[in-house]
Amino acid sequence: MKDLSHIAQSVHASTTLTIDAMFKQMKADGVDVIGFGAGEPDFDTPEHIKNAAIAAIKDNFTRYTPTPGIMDLRQAAADRLKADCGVSYEPTQIVVASGAKHSLYIALRTLVNPGDEVILPAPYWVSYRELIEMVGAVPVIVTAGEAEDFKLTAAKLEAAITPKTKAIILNNPSNPTGMMYSREDLIALTDICVRHDLYIIADEIYYRLVYDGAVFTSIPSLSPEVKEHTILVNGVSKSYAMTGWRIGYAAANGKIAKVMSNYLSHSTSAPCSIAQKAAVAALCGPQEGIRAMQAAFQERRDYLVSRMNRIPGVSCIKPQGAFYVMMNIRPLVGTTLHGVKIESADDFADALLKFGLVAVVPCGGFGAPDFVRWSYATSMENIKAGLDRLEKFFAEG
Ligand code: PMP
Ligand code: GLU
Repeated sequence: MKDLSHIAQSVHASTTLTIDAMFKQMKADGVDVIGFGAGEPDFDTPEHIKNAAIAAIKDNFTRYTPTPGIMDLRQAAADRLKADCGVSYEPTQIVVASGAKHSLYIALRTLVNPGDEVILPAPYWVSYRELIEMVGAVPVIVTAGEAEDFKLTAAKLEAAITPKTKAIILNNPSNPTGMMYSREDLIALTDICVRHDLYIIADEIYYRLVYDGAVFTSIPSLSPEVKEHTILVNGVSKSYAMTGWRIGYAAANGKIAKVMSNYLSHSTSAPCSIAQKAAVAALCGPQEGIRAMQAAFQERRDYLVSRMNRIPGVSCIKPQGAFYVMMNIRPLVGTTLHGVKIESADDFADALLKFGLVAVVPCGGFGAPDFVRWSYATSMENIKAGLDRLEKFFAEG
């Protein structure tokens, strides 16, 4: 038989989803494992959102909708972006898709030709790199280390630009680092993008999950030129505990929005009609639930960070947003734990799962080979027990 597509065959399964599936399977098999892998809120979707979906089914709102989403939802997203991010879009500039991950895919499809370069600051969320490669573009990885708070600097960005550079992906607050760019940081980076006529894919899906009163700045709010160059990606998964509903959206200039919509019309068509109604309720309804979730996440982060930094051999810096902590395991590389030679974060994560019954995500696939990611989107009890197990793992190893 003829060979399959080279591009398709080079796609790796998502590490985050693989670890999550493994964790859920172990649980189902009766293994007493604690999971810090999945990047999804452990809270339930609020009642008023679920009720909107039930009403949609009862009202027979069960048919195809327009490809870029129902107008109510596009308007609701535009209103929320105006209220929360200080940025104005017409509802026709909003394109809804089946999850923000799909919005990112369609954004890349819309912007790049095969061979174009896309700048990707590392550490990066594992899917960005694969998505760039899936559209035949070339990821240009620019690493920002712990000493730089994992944040791309203007000088490093400028140095990475070539005549082939088409776009950059900026994720703020960041998965996996939880770090946040300040307004000044963003002005410095986006000035360069505009000067070099680069598109900015701004993934702001964690924008509501920021701590210690940190002020979030939305990239397209910086200036009309920046806005014109930006495809803003957002969604309801993280802010409203709706990961399974699969609603994300992009906001962009009219031309980009039209191309994205055309592309969607031949791939997925519109997302689920019922989930769209639920997303309208999420975006237009009471927002207090988010504040409660945010307060819980902040308390968990504080506990996790301070205790982790008291455990010899590992350390972390304190993130300001999202729900992830990057644990530095560099001092352990070259040591042996439970009979396993630790050469990489993968080895460490495997050993911790096998001998410590704690699931974390190794960050080799995130461009950060000396780190493992802990998601604190899990209960305080689990966090305490997980750290107890980490200590025991070291003590017995
Ligand atoms: N962007 C980032 C940075 C994420 O962490 C996620 C989590 N899956 C997504 C996008 C995709 O979210 P969604 O569930 O809406 O596809
Ligand atoms: N974004 C989440 C994570 O990083 C969910 C899983 C995924 O889609 O990658 O864990």
